[in-house]
Amino acid sequence: MIGQEVFKNISEEACRALESVVGPEYLSTDPVLCSAYVGRGFDRQIFLFNEISRAPAAVIMPENTEQVARIVKVCNLYKIPFTPMSSYGMAFGGPNFRDDFLFIDLKRMNHMWLDEKNMYVVLEPAVYFAQMHGDTLKRGLIGCVPGGGGGTSVLANSLVNGMGLFNYRITYAAQRRWNGIEWVSPEGEIYRFGSLVAGDDSWFWQDGPGPNLSGLLHGITGWGGAMGIVTKMSTKLYPYPPRKLEPEGISYDSCVKLPEDREKWYNFSFSNEADVEKALDEIARARIGFIVNRVPSFWRDIARTRGDLAYRNRFWELWEPQTREEVSGRRILRVLLVGRSGQAELEYEERVLMDIVNENNGKLLKARQVDEASFFAVNSLGMWQPTGMFGDCDTGMETMKAIREMGERWRKRETEKEYTADFLDPKGDTPWYMAYNMGRLYYSELHAWPDAAQMDRGDKAEHKPGLEDRFMRWRVSEAGRIIIETGNQGFFYSLVTPVRVFAPALQNYDVWLDRMKAEFDPNGISAPGHPYIFDEIVDKVFPGAITDELKDAVKKVAEGPWNGNPEK
Ligand SMILES: Cc1cc2nc3c(=O)[nH]c(=O)nc-3n(C[C@H](O)[C@H](O)[C@H](O)COP(=O)(O)OP(=O)(O)OC[C@H]3O[C@@H](n4cnc5c(N)ncnc54)[C@H](O)[C@@H]3O)c2cc1C
Repeated sequence: MIGQEVFKNISEEACRALESVVGPEYLSTDPVLCSAYVGRGFDRQIFLFNEISRAPAAVIMPENTEQVARIVKVCNLYKIPFTPMSSYGMAFGGPNFRDDFLFIDLKRMNHMWLDEKNMYVVLEPAVYFAQMHGDTLKRGLIGCVPGGGGGTSVLANSLVNGMGLFNYRITYAAQRRWNGIEWVSPEGEIYRFGSLVAGDDSWFWQDGPGPNLSGLLHGITGWGGAMGIVTKMSTKLYPYPPRKLEPEGISYDSCVKLPEDREKWYNFSFSNEADVEKALDEIARARIGFIVNRVPSFWRDIARTRGDLAYRNRFWELWEPQTREEVSGRRILRVLLVGRSGQAELEYEERVLMDIVNENNGKLLKARQVDEASFFAVNSLGMWQPTGMFGDCDTGMETMKAIREMGERWRKRETEKEYTADFLDPKGDTPWYMAYNMGRLYYSELHAWPDAAQMDRGDKAEHKPGLEDRFMRWRVSEAGRIIIETGNQGFFYSLVTPVRVFAPALQNYDVWLDRMKAEFDPNGISAPGHPYIFDEIVDKVFPGAITDELKDAVKKVAEGPWNGNPEK
């Protein structure tokens, strides 16, 4: 084993059995090495500051599917809880209130096989978006990079949401993009799904004889590692002009230059939301555009700042002098046009776009012809943490009407004193939203950004007492309630939401999760606690996060006619 040998939480006999699977250089129980695996990424602060994240008892790094299956069998034999990780961009898999779990780090499994002709790619867990796009773009094929950036695993992201800016053209549901899948069950059996029944090379289809089982692996928005380990996934790719996009600079001050013959960014300003909505509707009807996004003003100020250290100071210098009147009286629409069949298509789409914007009182602004957030998504994380922490990100998806109502409710609530005293003041311009599936669906995000230092209980000088409780109440009860009451579908239901609280409003999907879990993980060792860890966090650490108003809202939605109940 690597480093210090410690057998406090996992017995020496079990550790030796694990070591015999991967060899001594790929297992460690050293507390220093293990502490590197305490939650990182999205949501890490709330877990760290409140001592919810813990270090694993051991870390193991398998090389292939057979090793994964043998590790899981050893875990079942010795009843060792385990958590898989592909890139560990999202810390929600880490927290589990335990010290005795094995962390299965899949980063050695990083192969990819591209089938250019049939437009799909077979991926192991540790192939990241930037790596995949580096290869596929040259061959005229594209996937869908999520907001989490180019450093997240394509496979793990597909198990969760798989959503990003390209969803205007590419279906938003990652699950619909899957083909064949290889899975190690929580008991350590290897299964192959979909067209793989026709042979080991048949990765082309999600379906096959018999029922489609992909829902078992996806749950509602992922299992947080609680349903075994996906070791290979085939996912569809989509046509795009062949490109070798050259990076410039060093992250966080980097971008890719866009060749202007086929791609072009446009920024427009409008004075009100109604004009933006009309423009969006017409853009979708005209079947033009590749990315269509109503962005918040402060993203522009974040984008103007360069580099990491200077980033926050520069952002505040730009953002603070702007008044609420200025910001709320300006709406910015950002559009990427792509001439997929040639330059003539780009020119045509540009003419149509300009007509639509002019007819709806929009004004063309300057736009840099570079990309920082779509193809390789190198710097996109900056836009999620203007106050130094990821904060709250809740989402709603539905029609334009539902998104509009959600936005109006949120803006009204946000102007109330407590919100602006605790969180970044968005000055009446958020929530932002974008069109998916060529305008048939809209997606919007509700944020609350507290100051990172004020949230840190360990920071004696800066900590603001009670802020974390108000933050969690906002996140679970205020934002959560606005989303369900306006008929929107959330995006984080099994990830950073107390599942049991919201499930009655969503056809009690936890009943199905429980049934599947009991059937496939009888020892309960695959990421124990998940996908209900947020219920546990709220119960144990933030009991005030669930308000009576939220409980009433869930009850009202659960009893509505849309859930099969008689009309009242
Ligand atoms: C700031 C920010 C913004 C984001 N915005 C978006 C967005 O707009 N759209 C979007 O779709 N996503 C978004 N995400 C999510 C992100 O892009 C990834 O989908 C997410 O982090 C999961 O991928 P990962 O590589 O980080 O997985 P990991 O952190 O490695 O794992 C995520 C979970 O999946 C489990 N898991 C990992 N690998 C496997 C496996 N092989 N088999 C079974 N279970 C596994 C883990 O146990 C864990 O619970 C965002 C994340 C961040 C940090």
